[in-house]
Amino acid sequence: MDARKLEGYEFAGELSLGGDLRPVRGALAMSLAVAQPGNRGAKTLPKLVLPEGSAQEAALVPDAEIYRAHHLLDVVRQFLPGDAAPEALDGWTRIAPTSTQQQPVYPDLADVKGQAAARRALEIAAAGGHSVLMMGAPGSGKSMLAQRFAGLLPTMTTEEALESAAVASLGGRFSLENWAVRPTCAPHHTASAVALVGGGSPPRPGEISLAHRGVLFLDELPEFPRAALEALREPLESGSITISRAAQRAEFPARFQLVAAMNPCPCGFLGSHLRACRCSPDQVSRYQGKLSGPLLDRIDLHVEVGALAADELVNTPPGEATAAIRSRVVQARARAITRQGSTNQALEGQAIDAQCQLDEASAKFLNTAAARLGWSGRSIHRCLKVARTIADLAGAATVQVTHVAEAVQYRRALKAVH
Ligand SMILES: [Zn+2]
Repeated sequence: MDARKLEGYEFAGELSLGGDLRPVRGALAMSLAVAQPGNRGAKTLPKLVLPEGSAQEAALVPDAEIYRAHHLLDVVRQFLPGDAAPEALDGWTRIAPTSTQQQPVYPDLADVKGQAAARRALEIAAAGGHSVLMMGAPGSGKSMLAQRFAGLLPTMTTEEALESAAVASLGGRFSLENWAVRPTCAPHHTASAVALVGGGSPPRPGEISLAHRGVLFLDELPEFPRAALEALREPLESGSITISRAAQRAEFPARFQLVAAMNPCPCGFLGSHLRACRCSPDQVSRYQGKLSGPLLDRIDLHVEVGALAADELVNTPPGEATAAIRSRVVQARARAITRQGSTNQALEGQAIDAQCQLDEASAKFLNTAAARLGWSGRSIHRCLKVARTIADLAGAATVQVTHVAEAVQYRRALKAVH
């Protein structure tokens, strides 16, 4: 082979003993890295040579030059001295950019009957980028609601779709059908910390990164190990996670929206009108106490989900459809982006006060509520951001007392359930 001919090419693949090339994890992530702005200064972007399967995935990246090879000899043939080998050989093909025209499909919120309060909270969460905790008895529909949350979010941009697909590719979970579908990752509470936040050698992304640009749904939140929940605090603030192992350090994106659910007590029926709770007050407070104050502080919206009795379920009409809610969400997000260049959840420090200005009446209302409920400064800021989102959904330029009053409702301490 003429080594000079290799210049400008990158190769990845699993080599079998017979010389066949097999797909590898992360082809899309590699392709994305090769097409990084840093490389765009070069005269031409590096060309990527990949096995069948990996090549199609990598070709999702716009402008990437991707070749697919079946066998090591197909590759070698291209780099023999002399004139370029014929491209027509079946084993070596330039892959056309992978087309991504299909519309993502999500389960519809129309499937969920009743639950006006929870639906409203999810709409606010989607509009402002806020996290939400649903509390209710088993069977009240918390999981059904959570599985329909991603559909309320705006359509992914190509950049977001690429980021999301690249992480899925690294995790070995990418499939073309899921292109531009916002993921909903729902790890079980018995999942290890590594499975949840990432790790291993070489480091692999965890569920929080696989949920990047999508939704992380944690059902039965208090059942997760404390250490796992505490590990969520960093990515909830920063949108990424750094994994350090003895020899390696890796950073994965983790900009997800957290949707959490829990029963109000160990038996699940505290406050339910369908069945009596059998738990002692002590059991209830120990159960709810598994969630640390700082973690709860970081969840913007707390909402109760009541179970419907069988006859209520039959007599309630279908709920509003996802598409209608999403169009309001998109408008509210657009207002925030136009005003401040970010979602309301992403506001920090002085920008919060600047963008969420209150008139006298609403400031007085918030101060009174905060004093009565013993809120931290962080809680007040979170409440302000939620109030701003409620105002955006209402198309209001300023945050008014009704918006603040609704936002306050969503930050009641858990103990208020008693
Ligand atoms: Zn109970």
